[in-house]
Amino acid sequence: MHAYRSLFPAPATEAAYDTLIVGAGFAGCVMAERLASQAGQRVLLVDKRRHVGGNAFDCHDDAGVLVHPYGPHIFHTNSAEVFGYLSQFTRWRPYQHRVLASVDGQLLPMPINLDTVNRLYGLSLTAFELDAFFARVAEPVDRSRTSEDVVVSRIGRDLYEKFFRGYTRKQWGLDPSELDASVTARVPTRTTRDDRYFTDTYQAMPLLGYTRMFEAMLAQPNIHVMLNTDYRDVVHRIGWKHMVYTGPIDSFFDHRHGRLPYRSLQFEHVTVHPPAGGHVQPVGTVNHPNDHLYTRVTEFKHLTGQQHALSSLVYEYPQAEGDPYYPIPRPENHALFKRYEAEAEQLSDVTFIGRLASYRYYNMDQVVGQALATFKRMLPA
Ligand code: FAD
Ligand code: UDP
Repeated sequence: MHAYRSLFPAPATEAAYDTLIVGAGFAGCVMAERLASQAGQRVLLVDKRRHVGGNAFDCHDDAGVLVHPYGPHIFHTNSAEVFGYLSQFTRWRPYQHRVLASVDGQLLPMPINLDTVNRLYGLSLTAFELDAFFARVAEPVDRSRTSEDVVVSRIGRDLYEKFFRGYTRKQWGLDPSELDASVTARVPTRTTRDDRYFTDTYQAMPLLGYTRMFEAMLAQPNIHVMLNTDYRDVVHRIGWKHMVYTGPIDSFFDHRHGRLPYRSLQFEHVTVHPPAGGHVQPVGTVNHPNDHLYTRVTEFKHLTGQQHALSSLVYEYPQAEGDPYYPIPRPENHALFKRYEAEAEQLSDVTFIGRLASYRYYNMDQVVGQALATFKRMLPA
């Protein structure tokens, strides 16, 4: 599919590569690009999937619509460094994501804002009055420890139950009271009418898609890409001096302390004939906190700006089993991760980065930031 140079037959010389990178997602691609272009290293980038990009991979479906096979990926960051770095490899299409939640028969703005509350309860509060409303319905907690605490202490139980409880239980297979506060704290509450999902300084989509951006990062003679390959099949057959590992950390250590839980998803992709105007949804994503087995439905053309007579959407069905997509933030999982991290720190020839190896609920920009910082630390002083 891609014009990457094939490695086979693999060179039999010792240390044919300075660095073996496991995983061609954001973490692996940034490291490969930096090590090759800035440190002159010979890099082998291995992924067991048939493509680069990890979960951010995009491609055209059978209808010719640009889709994200692993669910919708919207780029946003406050980091000028991260945005500037990626801008070397792509031009951008400005895009501000909007989400509506299907609640009590209405499609209401999410994050909860002034319009959400007024339309849900048939009120006409001002922003100032909404502050007082939240103060009245909020349930004080000593410390916002869980994903339930953080929401009920901010906006009270009714809004929590309508917008957060059901969605979170579906998404994670756990009650919000069993998850770290950081999970639902990702979604703010506003007293204004701002209906953007993110408020970051930089919000944009790669103009020609993520995959084209990754291909531009990897288009260097010193980077060899080997797809459809589990690193275990080559790790002892190819010479390398250092490894950067971006897969699940428990898998690297053969689950010797037990399995780290990751949440998975099943994606149902559909293509439809939209009415005039070209879209079936008013915004990029509609969340379904209380009905259906899926959590949300995303219509890609909103994200990509593509003009096409057809429209493709993805439904996300959370699962316990399957590819590891989300680390599950809760204390016992963090404690288990720490045991693997302690083992990882003993290994001088392997560096662990990325969402799965760090067991952190990182967005794309955070992974890029982590990789850039790690690269700087790896450079000889
Ligand atoms: P990955 O992309 O997971 O890459 C790891 C790679 O390692 C994979 O390609 C895997 O095949 C490979 N690998 C694993 N084990 C092996 C092995 N043994 N041998 C060879 N290869 C191996 N972030 C945002 O900023 N905005 C969003 O809108 C957004 N939406 C998301 C929606 C969904 C449904 C999901 C799941 C995530 C979303 N994210 C979003 C998060 C984003 O996907 C991650 O932050 C980012 O892609 C992580 O990059 P990574 O390189 O760490 O990991
Ligand atoms: N969430 C919710 N209702 C929503 C949106 C989000 O309860 O309508 C909670 C849910 O627990 C979710 C978390 O907030 O997993 C983080 O939401 P985000 O949209 O950041 O999730 P992601 O895009 O990473 O799947």
